[in-house]
Amino acid sequence: MSEARRGRSTDVPTLVEQAREGRPRAVARLISLVEDASPQLREVMAALAPLTGGAYVVGLTGSPGVGKSTSTSALVTAFRRAGRRVGVLAVDPSSPFSGGALLGDRVRMSEHSSDPGVYIRSMATRGHLGGLAWAAPQAIRVLDAAGCDVVLVETVGVGQSEVEIAAQADTSVVLLAPGMGDGIQAAKAGILEIGDVYVVNKADRDGADATARELNHMLGLGEIRAAGDWRPPIVKTVAARGEGVEELVDALEKHRAWMAERGVLAERRLSRAANEIETIAVTALRERIGGLRGDQHLAVLAAKVTEGTLDPYTAADDLVSGLTS
Ligand code: GDP
Repeated sequence: MSEARRGRSTDVPTLVEQAREGRPRAVARLISLVEDASPQLREVMAALAPLTGGAYVVGLTGSPGVGKSTSTSALVTAFRRAGRRVGVLAVDPSSPFSGGALLGDRVRMSEHSSDPGVYIRSMATRGHLGGLAWAAPQAIRVLDAAGCDVVLVETVGVGQSEVEIAAQADTSVVLLAPGMGDGIQAAKAGILEIGDVYVVNKADRDGADATARELNHMLGLGEIRAAGDWRPPIVKTVAARGEGVEELVDALEKHRAWMAERGVLAERRLSRAANEIETIAVTALRERIGGLRGDQHLAVLAAKVTEGTLDPYTAADDLVSGLTS
């Protein structure tokens, strides 16, 4: 049996200690435990809890092809230059493939693969009972505990989970590009509500100024802002050439400082923790209820509901109270 294989058994404290020291394999293994919804996660999360809270979490969303991966890579370069340790979590809510398979496709990240100050990990969440909302916060915790100063969370594939990704981040970056009909799509998808910072990438292409103007117009229309409120900036970038990336980092730092000053960072983290608790609780309940399929008690309740001797709400109360008592 190889050493890696032996370590795979159940030695959570060792794994956590190694992750804390920044050992990439341990970090990868812990995220795999999340992806697999391992029963050991309870122990892992208990061990990680005191080590978390230091990372600044930035979510990047936008339509496929807009330049998320290229921008993420450029941000990694910028943060590394500033001496920060960076974690990248590329989440694919639709892919049936697990981490490794996807990672191979993220070629634009390959320039960072030999940098010990960078962790890059793809994670598939399809098939998970709790999905992205369940898995992403736990994977972020692993990267946080491993000493990442910044965690970049990027969606891969379809963009329907933008709101979910935004809910995991301290700062949400929404990317658009000229000529993609993004302005109209943005309004439809409601991403105008979630962006703390907007990026018009591919600014080397025609129409970038028009996209920025349209976005500016749309952002201005929707909301009335009080003095001191955050006005989401629009940053133009050519991520493929690293242009505008310093400005983007600057916008992120400003947003972070504004959040800290106004107590928004603490508020967001509290709300995230509440969501996380709720998701874990609901997922656990659903698992237990799912486990009751074919169970005698449920069968009896179902029969009563069918006969009309019991209503479905009372039956559901009965079922839930039986699960938690
Ligand atoms: P994602 O699907 O949102 O992650 O987008 P990618 O980062 O994979 O980029 C999609 C394509 O756009 C790739 O071929 C990139 O090389 C290209 N691209 C990214 N940034 C720029 C840019 O600033 N200008 C131009 N012209 N192309 C870019």
